[in-house]
Amino acid sequence: MDFLYESIGLGVDLVILGLCLRQYVNYNHSGRMLKSAAQVPIDGDLRSALEKQQDKKIPFAVIRGTVTPIGPPIRSTLVPGVSGVLQIMKLTEHRVTRGFAGFWTDNLKVLHESANLVPFELRNQGHGVEIIDALRAGVLDVDVVYDNYEPATMTLWDHIFGFISGIRQRGLQTSEAVLREGSVLTAIGELELDGKVLRMQPSEDGSLILTTATKATLIQRLEEGKSALIFRMAFYGSISVLLLGLIARKLYLKRKQQRAEDEIRNRLEEERRERRALMRPQNLTDDQRCVVCSSNPKEIIILPCGHVCLCEDCSQHISNICPVCRGKIDSKTAAFIV
Ligand SMILES: [Zn+2]
Ligand SMILES: [Zn+2]
Repeated sequence: MDFLYESIGLGVDLVILGLCLRQYVNYNHSGRMLKSAAQVPIDGDLRSALEKQQDKKIPFAVIRGTVTPIGPPIRSTLVPGVSGVLQIMKLTEHRVTRGFAGFWTDNLKVLHESANLVPFELRNQGHGVEIIDALRAGVLDVDVVYDNYEPATMTLWDHIFGFISGIRQRGLQTSEAVLREGSVLTAIGELELDGKVLRMQPSEDGSLILTTATKATLIQRLEEGKSALIFRMAFYGSISVLLLGLIARKLYLKRKQQRAEDEIRNRLEEERRERRALMRPQNLTDDQRCVVCSSNPKEIIILPCGHVCLCEDCSQHISNICPVCRGKIDSKTAAFIV
C-alpha cells in the first residue's frame, strides 16, 4: 500500500487526539459541576438544611472536615505508628521490554494491588458526614507512607533469558498509600440525609472527589489541565493536518503520473493505428473485410474457435465473445494469410 506509514501514523494520531478530547470534555464537565457545587459547612444546621431539600439530597456539594474512622482504624502494614481509613498496597515491577521495532523501552507492570477500607466520616465541630464508596472516587488524594525500590540482581542466565524473551526485570517497587486518620479533606459528591445518617456518595454521574486541596485549588488544577490538553490537541491536530497533506500530495502525484502514462500509451496506440492504416491493401472483397467495421482487412484469429473475422483495431474492443459464432474468446493472435 502506497500510504501505509502515513495511514498508520494518522490512525495513531487520531486515537491520541480522541483521547485528549475525551479527557478535555471530562475536565470541562467536572469544572462546570465544581463551580456550581455548593460549599456546605458541616455543622448543627446541616441536617435541617438537607431536610428542606428535595429527596433530602444535594446532588453536588462540597464539604470539608477531618478524617475520622467509625470504629477501629487500619494500621499501616509497613510503617509503624501510621493509621488511616483507606490503604492501598502496590507491588510494581520495573522492566525494559523490546518493542516490535526492536527498541528497548522502560515500562511498569503492576504485579499486585490491594485496597482496604473501613467506614469513616468527615467531622467538623462535633458533627460528621459518612463517606460512602471512597474507592470509587475519581480523584483520591492519599499519602504515600512507604515507597521502596529494590533493584534486581541479574545472573548471566537472566540476561540471556531476558534477551530471548524480550523482557528484562530492573527491580521491584513496593508502595503503601494511606488516607490518614486526622487529615483534613475536601469531599465533593452527592450529600444525602438517609434516616438519621448524613452521608456523601458518588453523584449520579458517578463522580466523587476526595482531595486535600480546597475547591478553589481544585478548579485551578482543572483549568491548568484543560490548558495543557488544548496545547496537546493543537500539537496532535497539526500532525494530523500534516499527514493528511502528505497523503493528498502523494495521491495528486500518483494521479498526475498515471495521466502522463495514459497519454503516452494513447499516443503510441494512435501512431500504430495510423501506421497500420497506411500498410493495409486497398482493394478488398467483402469477404476479406472485418465483420465489425467492414472496411479494414481481417487480421486477427480468435481462439479456440479459429475464426479470422476481425481487424486489429476492432479486436482491441472485443475480448469476450466471438462476433461470428458467439463462442468464448480464450485468446487472440495475428493471422497471416498468404
Ligand atoms: Zn474492423
Ligand atoms: Zn468464432
